[in-house]
Amino acid sequence: MRKIAFLIIIILFAAISTRAQTVTYKVYIVRFASTAHPFAIADWAYKGPTTDSVRINFMVWLIKGSNGKNILVDAGFLNDLPDAADFNVVKYTRPDSALLKLDIKPGDITDIILSHPHWDHIDGVGLFPNAHVWIQKDDYGYFVGGAWQKDGNNGGFNKRDVRTMLDLNLAGKLTLVDGDNKELMPGIKVFTGSRHTYNSQYVLVETGTNKIVLASDNIWIYYSLQHMVPASDGGTLDPAGYIKAMQRMKTMVSDTKFIIPGHDAAVFSVFPKVADGVAEVK
Ligand SMILES: [Zn+2]
Repeated sequence: MRKIAFLIIIILFAAISTRAQTVTYKVYIVRFASTAHPFAIADWAYKGPTTDSVRINFMVWLIKGSNGKNILVDAGFLNDLPDAADFNVVKYTRPDSALLKLDIKPGDITDIILSHPHWDHIDGVGLFPNAHVWIQKDDYGYFVGGAWQKDGNNGGFNKRDVRTMLDLNLAGKLTLVDGDNKELMPGIKVFTGSRHTYNSQYVLVETGTNKIVLASDNIWIYYSLQHMVPASDGGTLDPAGYIKAMQRMKTMVSDTKFIIPGHDAAVFSVFPKVADGVAEVK
């Protein structure tokens, strides 16, 4: 009898320890475009210097899971958008082609977590045929609805992206995430509060060895994080909330270097290069 009890305990223990074996992730920054000229920091950070500059890149972030999941945070854009020309975009590689540098083919992307629906983050969402897409419910609602009403603000939004998102929803390939601090899959959570758009979100990844915040445009450039100032005018609907969110991000990581801003080219001097325009966050 005691032998059987002992055996049961061993089996239970084995089952529990197998369950505790969590997924591990690798996180990469992938640049797919730059801008022709640097910008004044003041253009991107509230009351930042007009006399100092920042180099702006366009990036997507790949979270590669040991369970076979290849999760993109944001999807970049296609270069035929008028917005891209307005921004003087140079050195453009389509985001799906840029990912080939990591041996990731378009069909390999299993999920896309959209931080917000601005053109430079959402327009490429149709490039990945097998991806399931995640966006904040209120961000989506405003994007496809209120933004286009008389008193709405659709700056940075494109009608073709609205149609793509409606189609994804109709096809059952879209999940609307309802609010702050939601776990989308093991080790991957999203948070709100910065209000870069109606209800933008950022991503916390527990890699197994580290915690990494992919802030996307909830922090445009390092200057904001270093000086705890919000994005410049128009960069957030809630400047106080934007600062609070940065403070909160700092509590999530062991080192502020693991908070990754959305557009600062300096990320490539912080993390080791794995290919041209690709760095691993570690
Ligand atoms: Zn952006």
